[in-house]
Amino acid sequence: MTSSSARKNTLDLIGNTPLVRLEGPSAEAGCEIWGKCEFLNPGGSVKDRAALAIVRDAEERGDLQPGGTIVEGTAGNTGIGLALVGNALGYRTIIVMPDNQSAEKMDTLRALGAELVLVPPTKYSDGNHFVHTSRRLAEETPGAIWANQFDNTANRKGHIETTAEEIWAQLDGRIDGFTCAVGTGGTLAGVGMGLKEHDPQIVVALTDPHGAALYSHYATGELKAEGSSVAEGIGQGRITGNLEGAPVDTQFRVSDEEGLEWVARLLREEGLCLGLSSGINVAGAIMLGKQLARERGSEARVVTILCDTGFRYLSTLYSGEWLRSKSLPVFEWLRPE
Ligand code: PMP
Repeated sequence: MTSSSARKNTLDLIGNTPLVRLEGPSAEAGCEIWGKCEFLNPGGSVKDRAALAIVRDAEERGDLQPGGTIVEGTAGNTGIGLALVGNALGYRTIIVMPDNQSAEKMDTLRALGAELVLVPPTKYSDGNHFVHTSRRLAEETPGAIWANQFDNTANRKGHIETTAEEIWAQLDGRIDGFTCAVGTGGTLAGVGMGLKEHDPQIVVALTDPHGAALYSHYATGELKAEGSSVAEGIGQGRITGNLEGAPVDTQFRVSDEEGLEWVARLLREEGLCLGLSSGINVAGAIMLGKQLARERGSEARVVTILCDTGFRYLSTLYSGEWLRSKSLPVFEWLRPE
């Protein structure tokens, strides 16, 4: 006999994350705001799920054979997930990433044994973009698969089958809205599709950072980016394979300053240390919550994703010097005397 929280192998540590009611955001929205604690996955982010789903799918297709290699272009978190899953299953992992990502992510990938290929940050249309570089590398490496998290819909299928089902069960089927930001779109599309299968009345909303083109796409049909954001892992300029057919009912745009305010408040008031995409998600959830509180009352429930741990950003988000260099407000407790 084992307890229900005993997992039979390390890969089973991925997923089944808790859901937590967020006090400050709920008070602000006038209804219930819940966060899915994806930072508690073994790799510290929501991307462990996509990594596992993509690898399992490649194995089932017969594309990935014992001793094979996984190649991916990633801002970091997917790489960490793939390295962990690769280690657990005996695959070599090669990660291509832009060299402007946080030092912690690069050090973590190296520490996990992934082979790191750094490329300069470029536009997606540039042939040397990290995504294109990773595809070429996969083609050139014998026995390798290209994880292709942006367009490989095994990513969102993983969220349909796990994240959405977990949220539905954790709230006993009483949920009014879901929102999150988009990197690949796997989370937004997968959780949105999965929840709508249970209840089409659940409002699915995009929360977009500045500098991304999806807000304008869902609002007007035109992909158009305005402004910029320092948030890592989110901010998409195209309709990825994972986003195609995503059931997006409404959309919000959140600035880095608004996201940072919630990163700070969640840390100081609720003891949660998170990355900026989580703060942006929470700010978006409050916007959706206010709307649903008006339409459905204070019992309304909105769920968002707490994507990754803040410990990954000690030299960026949690550094006064770095925040100042980006002209962003510095957390009060990081200010010099
Ligand atoms: N937040 C962070 C920190 C991420 O790394 C990612 C993944 N790129 C996301 C959010 C977005 O998740 P998805 O790729 O499922 O859209």
